[in-house]
Amino acid sequence: MQIECPSGLVVEARKIKAQELEALAEANDSDEPPADGGLLTVINRCVQRVIDAGPYSFVEVGDALPDWKRVIYGDLATMFFKLRIVSVEDPYEFPVQCKHCRKWADFDVTLSELPINPLPESSKAKLRSNSPFEARTLDGKLVRFYLKTIRREEPIAKLVRAIERQTGKPSYSFLDSWAGQAEFIEPLGERSKNDKARWMWFRQLDLDEVDNLRDQFDAVDGGIDIELRFRCRRRGCGGVTNHMIPLDGDFFRRKRKPADLKPLHDGGRIIPLEEEALEKTEEVTKGETEESLDLE
Ligand SMILES: [Zn+2]
Repeated sequence: MQIECPSGLVVEARKIKAQELEALAEANDSDEPPADGGLLTVINRCVQRVIDAGPYSFVEVGDALPDWKRVIYGDLATMFFKLRIVSVEDPYEFPVQCKHCRKWADFDVTLSELPINPLPESSKAKLRSNSPFEARTLDGKLVRFYLKTIRREEPIAKLVRAIERQTGKPSYSFLDSWAGQAEFIEPLGERSKNDKARWMWFRQLDLDEVDNLRDQFDAVDGGIDIELRFRCRRRGCGGVTNHMIPLDGDFFRRKRKPADLKPLHDGGRIIPLEEEALEKTEEVTKGETEESLDLE
């Protein structure tokens, strides 16, 4: 099969084999799951050829595969999800906990319906010339950054792991990706070169500054959108929960048999907000009483 990535990179790939799926599922369920959920393993095994190098000067058309750690994360995640979709049946079922009333409900997501945002042309041009993007803080200070790659994230991930070992607390935050992406932060000046200084700068931002920078980082990026929004249908709650698609062992398994599908928590029913997903919810809630549907 051919996979076209948001940047325009096109690769030829095979499916993930049954035995590989089993191994990935076990690894992701183990006490020390791979930090990337198996993403690089899948891409290294399944991608066989580059058909179109897209905007990357270091990628060559042919059988020689590139250093995937330098390819933008939006491309890698898109390849990973597309390979999962053709290798295992849709949908993917996982439990979501309502952040407001703490109730759990199982939910099905049809992965092939997840939106894939193309990389803007202006961003492809930046990748071609390997030049950074520019964002501004709320008070107008410059932040220069590149798109997220594993290579850029590695030193920060190492730093966070060391902190986790010291404190015993898991500490990863999406802000850590930004610390990896950022090349220059005006308030830090020369200290921008220091990984820990950048990491600490992002970690101390106010929420409105996070929102401001997120808009600017997101606007220039592309890739598969794996953050879903769910609205709780439990009586008296209705709270909205943002939830990333979890990469646990079940991601690599066929959906469990219908007998296992009964919701364990009858009081709560969690559904996505988007229109497309709302249609799906009607299927999911089929069989429920009129009363519970009226709650929406
Ligand atoms: Zn709730």
